[in-house]
Amino acid sequence: KMKTLKGAEVSAKIKEQVTQMMEGLEGPAPKLAIVRVGEKPDDMSYERGAVKKMENFGLRVRTYVFPEQISDSDFKAEFSAINRDPDVSGILLLRPLPKQIAETDIEKMIDPEKDLDGISPANIAKVFAGDKTGFAPCTAEAVIEVLKANEIDMTGKNVTIVGRSMVVGRPLSMLMLKENATVTICHTRTMDLEAECRRAEILVAAAGKAKMLDGRHVGQDAIVIDVGINVDENGKLCGDVDFQSIESMASMATPVPGGVGAVTTAVLAKHLVLAGQRQRRN
Ligand code: NAD
Repeated sequence: KMKTLKGAEVSAKIKEQVTQMMEGLEGPAPKLAIVRVGEKPDDMSYERGAVKKMENFGLRVRTYVFPEQISDSDFKAEFSAINRDPDVSGILLLRPLPKQIAETDIEKMIDPEKDLDGISPANIAKVFAGDKTGFAPCTAEAVIEVLKANEIDMTGKNVTIVGRSMVVGRPLSMLMLKENATVTICHTRTMDLEAECRRAEILVAAAGKAKMLDGRHVGQDAIVIDVGINVDENGKLCGDVDFQSIESMASMATPVPGGVGAVTTAVLAKHLVLAGQRQRRN
């Protein structure tokens, strides 16, 4: 019978690590700055999850909200002030930003030491070099955390990742390489998606298409990690994987909701404490 890999259990393990790390840290708990422009429901639901997690982990958090219409120069001035604030240990920028703001400028501006979600060129370079001293995107790292917490070794395994975005697919493929997996990356132009997926011992879905992967994409006893967060035809939250249809094939799978999402914010918290540690050593 297929085992459900619950995000809450992984998050609890990360909480133990975070609590231990905080014991060695003097002064007030590290503070996260969440930066949001506008009122997009997706951003606001991610923000609520992040705020709850920080509070639950005993960390400080403050949300900075700016109007949707804010100009590029005004936003840069505001962002720069947050970036320089010594009381702010880490920053989560909700993206994409409205189109009048040059997002790539912000990526270059953010202090790599506070860049908890790995959007700066310096952190991206470290992820691609297999250097763990920076910050990888939280969602990509959450996938690794789910596997490690469940004692699933990636060494030499065939891993197929569906999706090649800078937030999930690409950085995750690099983190998987670091774990010595044999990695295949699929995308919209992949010729035979079914075959590429079926070969996988570990299949990661990060395409953002409701229930696009089903039993036909899953090999016998494969482990399936579903990163997708979508709404189905009934307005219900669902992943990229049709969970019911893979039950007879997969050995383990993460649900949506209740899977990778809960781990992503736990990784964010861990990054915040790491940032706090590094900054106080300086
Ligand atoms: P994106 O749209 O930027 O990228 C999607 C990728 O999937 C693209 O590279 C595309 O080539 C590929 N793709 C799309 N349709 C495909 C198809 N039919 N066949 C093969 N490949 C296809 O999305 P993203 O930002 O990487 O996010 C992916 C999903 O993960 C979304 O559902 C998003 O909501 C979710 N997400 C979850 C978390 C979390 O914390 N769990 C965090 C970020 C994103």
